[in-house]
Amino acid sequence: MTHPLLGLPPLSAARFASIEDRVARLLGTAQDVVITQGEALLPLEGAIRGAAGPGTTALNVITGPYGQTFGDWLRDCGATVVDLSVPFHTAVTAEQVREALAAHPEIDFVSLVHAEAATGNTNPVAEIGTVVREHGALFYLDAVASVGAEPVLPDAWGVDLCVIGAQKAMGGPAGVSAISVSERAWARMAANPRAPRHSYLSLLDWKERWIDGGRRALLHAPAQLEMLALEACLERIEAEGLETVTARHASAAAATRAGALALGGGLEPYVHEAAQAAPVATTLRTPPGVVASELVARVLAEDPGLPLAAGGGALAKDMIRVNHYGPAATVETVRSSLTALGAALAGRGPAVDPQAACRAAEDAWG
Ligand SMILES: *Cc1c(COP(=O)(O)O)cnc(C)c1O
Repeated sequence: MTHPLLGLPPLSAARFASIEDRVARLLGTAQDVVITQGEALLPLEGAIRGAAGPGTTALNVITGPYGQTFGDWLRDCGATVVDLSVPFHTAVTAEQVREALAAHPEIDFVSLVHAEAATGNTNPVAEIGTVVREHGALFYLDAVASVGAEPVLPDAWGVDLCVIGAQKAMGGPAGVSAISVSERAWARMAANPRAPRHSYLSLLDWKERWIDGGRRALLHAPAQLEMLALEACLERIEAEGLETVTARHASAAAATRAGALALGGGLEPYVHEAAQAAPVATTLRTPPGVVASELVARVLAEDPGLPLAAGGGALAKDMIRVNHYGPAATVETVRSSLTALGAALAGRGPAVDPQAACRAAEDAWG
């Protein structure tokens, strides 16, 4: 008996390398790309543990929950951490980064999240990259929520460690991820006696045993299902065109924002400035007296297929996330999300106008 997911032959080293090359093309990078066999937290943690240690002073930019996690890892590695936090309804500016670097000239590592699906903001990485390069620090970027939704260009932006995952705007699997690594970043890891080696977290193992060996022998049996799914999703993006895919996400964000404002009911964009709102997902603030997690639960009870979620942790009270990414970045999904939110809000506060919301969304889609 055959089953499409079972009995697959092992994935060859050549196939694995060709998928890495496709990821490199997606990122427009000439740096080494390593595909990591796990959810994006694997390379995110592996890169910090590889590149940071007791001698490191890190500027950790916090614009959402992931920045907080990175600070914890950096401290755990023995690094001295300078936190730069901005309110979650905004983005950090290059000027704020410049000031932090000027106040702490010893900073030699900067960690930043490009876009945060959890808070709905996106940071100006190109401008920040210029500032970080001038200072000379190693630049670490979490681009999991931005790749596929907006441009991610590690080489052009001077990013030394750029982590992506396929599960958001790429519309792919969550079980594999990838990282691009600059020569400077490899050198930093090689010089770090505490960098993981002979470990699942070790990027250096892949450098020494895979890349330096000409990518002929894999370190272990790769996860075929996830690798094949990653390859399929890269093929799909290439066929649609990366620019078309990112444009679809930008339209979804603009349409959701305009539609929510036209809907009424007291809903407001959580991120104040449209330019700082992430194309991957739109966060909305519920009016006083409406608990976001309860509102979302009511909507999903009617239509479990809608890409809605409440904010995590303390944000569950007043944040709704419209996760219009991957296959959900369509005008139909935006319309049905707004209509369903309107129905759930009706009669609970200020008037709602779902038809006006849909019209505004269609106009903003462009
Ligand atoms: C989604 C996301 C990740 C990956 O986390 P999951 O919750 O496992 O999907 C990492 N970083 C950022 C900024 C993300 O938005």
